[in-house]
Amino acid sequence: MVSSVRLGERLAVQDFSRPVLAELRGVCKSYRHAGHLVTALQDVSLQIRQGECLGIVGESGSGKSTIGRILLCLECPDEGEVVFGGTSLAGLKGKALRQMRKNMQVVFQDPSSSLSPRLPVWRSVMEPLDNFPEIVPPFLSEARGSRRACAGQLFDMVGLSPEYLDRYPHELSGGQKQRVAIARGIALNPRLLICDEPTSSLDVTVQAEILRMLKGLGRELGISCLFISHDIASLASISHRILVMKKGRRVDLFETERIYDAERHDYTRLLVSKVK
Ligand code: ADP
Ligand code: MG
Repeated sequence: MVSSVRLGERLAVQDFSRPVLAELRGVCKSYRHAGHLVTALQDVSLQIRQGECLGIVGESGSGKSTIGRILLCLECPDEGEVVFGGTSLAGLKGKALRQMRKNMQVVFQDPSSSLSPRLPVWRSVMEPLDNFPEIVPPFLSEARGSRRACAGQLFDMVGLSPEYLDRYPHELSGGQKQRVAIARGIALNPRLLICDEPTSSLDVTVQAEILRMLKGLGRELGISCLFISHDIASLASISHRILVMKKGRRVDLFETERIYDAERHDYTRLLVSKVK
């Protein structure tokens, strides 16, 4: 039943003329694994505009996370180019790379990977700001005198009560931990937030709550978002456009409201038909 795919809000028409924030141009990437070469990405191009949420869908192994890692400069493409804010990322090193990276933050499927088990969660949330003390995001300007007050403000933005500030990760539910990881992700007011399957390990009700919260945050802060998921229904509820990956190739790219159009790729139609 395709009717259960809920569509993301349309960007206002003029928003499509917004400048491009991040771009992959003809990116190829292979890995050597057990003696042979595995192609993760083959000639992938994409653009993320300012304030846009671009969704990437595809089955496991289709190259989604590799796109995220390449954008984050955690890996280099074998061929092609990555451009962020008009600057090519090729060959960026040291201080220039560090300065570039602060514009992009990532939220992973497993929130525990970004939270120290030995710290109360508010300290993990503040870590990015501790690393870049010169940055004072506008939404933290009132709280700037106190690190704890900043963490409290970030908690409020992701819908967490201040009573959780002093908890340790193991004292929180999966959904609460993911909210903490998102608070950490937005702490530096990045220009791009990469969410790699952030709701895949959560139950359906919690997934929906987190998606709603992320959507509100994106709108409020104007952050661009790359939202990766194997679930096209989740993607459709949050993304302005959807890019479909299959075996390392981009097979479709469309505005979310065009998800049912006749020109959709057979594979996109298959993914949509599987939504219950
Ligand atoms: P997805 O996120 O869509 O599940 P990935 O981007 O993680 O896919 O992986 C794409 C392909 O690249 C897969 O075949 C995967 O096994 C391979 N791959 C990814 N990272 C590595 C790595 N570090 N070493 C070897 N193969 C890798
Ligand atoms: Mg992945």
